Amino acid sequence: MAKIIRSKSAAKPGAKKPGIPSSPGKKAGKPKALKPKPAKSKAWTAAEIHEAFSRFRKANPEPKGELEHLNPYTLLVAVVLSAQATDAGVNKATRALFAVADTPEKMLELGEEKVREYIKTIGLYRNKAKNVIALSEKLIAEFGGEVPRTRAEIESLPGAGRKTANVVLNMAYGEHTMAVDTHVFRVGNRTGLAPGNTPLEVELGLEKVIPSEFMLHAHHWLILHGRYTCLARKPRCEVCLINDLCRWPEKTV
Ligand code: SF4
Repeated sequence: MAKIIRSKSAAKPGAKKPGIPSSPGKKAGKPKALKPKPAKSKAWTAAEIHEAFSRFRKANPEPKGELEHLNPYTLLVAVVLSAQATDAGVNKATRALFAVADTPEKMLELGEEKVREYIKTIGLYRNKAKNVIALSEKLIAEFGGEVPRTRAEIESLPGAGRKTANVVLNMAYGEHTMAVDTHVFRVGNRTGLAPGNTPLEVELGLEKVIPSEFMLHAHHWLILHGRYTCLARKPRCEVCLINDLCRWPEKTV
């Protein structure tokens, strides 16, 4: 049975900080919707948490990530490319890239310059192309060309941090990890499910309170909830499945 994988290490440099996403030019305006602060509200009961995730499960029994990939290797590459980029933007570039290079060996054969061409529509593409080549080399040299199955090993790959490891362990290997991106960070704080000042705090808080039976899909339910319902600027509380349970004082229902 899959287990929760925890590490004592702090979030890697470059991990998003609390308050993400930022809102340039709105420093003194209304930061509340964009800067969820850890809720001081009453903690959720175990029954309430079970109820919330039962509703997510009923509405979407098999949630899927939106990053397109063909195997654990292409998933790893897609996640590395997705830093500070949208899934849709990454998919647009990787469809053609993965058609010619879906293994570390083929990626090396393609070479950094050509990888750069394929991904030039993605932010930070020069550095990301370097990382894709370097991580492919390392996979071949140290892991027999396979994506490793431990957090420490994945985090040792160029361009891969804690979030990458959590996504790969969850989606490729079915581990009960919780990758915290900007959406999960916001939802964890607003709802009061797992208040925290850092992504790591929210991650560990969510792992602690979410029952094991929901952990395989919890990451996707929360991401999709944040992306399509609990929006940063205008949360759609009126259609929110958990609006009666949410602790956010500013919810609109
Ligand atoms: S009620 Fe509103 S703030 Fe609370 S989780 Fe739902 S959409 Fe987000």
